[in-house]
Amino acid sequence: MKESAILLCDDVTVEFDGFKAVQGMNLKLEKGELRFLIGPNGAGKTTILDVICGKVRPSGGRVTFGKVDITKKKEHQIAELGIGRKFQAPSIFPSMTVSENLEIAMRQRRTVFATLFAKMAEEERSRIDGQLTMIGLQNKADWRAGGLSHGEKQWLEIGMMLLQEPEILLLDEPVAGMTDKETDKTGELLHEIARKRSIVVVEHDMEFVRNFASKVTVMHEGKLLKEGSMDEIQRDDRVAEVYLGK
Ligand code: ADP
Repeated sequence: MKESAILLCDDVTVEFDGFKAVQGMNLKLEKGELRFLIGPNGAGKTTILDVICGKVRPSGGRVTFGKVDITKKKEHQIAELGIGRKFQAPSIFPSMTVSENLEIAMRQRRTVFATLFAKMAEEERSRIDGQLTMIGLQNKADWRAGGLSHGEKQWLEIGMMLLQEPEILLLDEPVAGMTDKETDKTGELLHEIARKRSIVVVEHDMEFVRNFASKVTVMHEGKLLKEGSMDEIQRDDRVAEVYLGK
């Protein structure tokens, strides 16, 4: 099974001024997996995403992406290797159109290539069209991104990430602030993305997790508390204790 793991966090510890925000955390992600990471506030979920994308350097343990040890790599190197991170607030260019935002994202990793091969332009156009359809914004390509709904902005940013072709997407509460309809659409979008790529989602919205998660990792006080299907998680006494304080 280990051969198919695309990401391994092995005994990862993170300290902030002596305080252990993450303690000996293990996480194994398979190719094409959509994993939900849950746990109470302060459990260390965001910190572990920060470690994976190189924003935070762990004080112990190892992070491996495919066969590459990325523990000591810098954020931009990890992004180039194929791990994309999306934060809660969408980072889009509001005064540009939806299409222009996607073009910028695509060219970020493709400048030299695009310059060398003039006929890329047509291929680029069709990739952008495909992406617009996937994120459901095909009829809003010429809208100013700033005029989109909150959910649409999030999808646009996900589309921008995808055009950089990451193998792993790390998402921080992607449905926060979305309507129910937008939330469901996002769940479907994540499943579609996970047909080709792997995703780790930090999520607080338990209904969303129940509806869309196949495998869930629960963190508590910087450690792995439980891992399994949503059914297994819900039946676990320790998880109930942590969430309900009983
Ligand atoms: P979660 O995402 O599960 O809510 P975090 O990973 O954000 O948890 O935080 C885990 C713990 O680490 C919390 O106690 C938080 O206060 C602490 N923490 C996070 N980032 C920092 C930081 N930069 N400096 C000091 N403490 C931090």
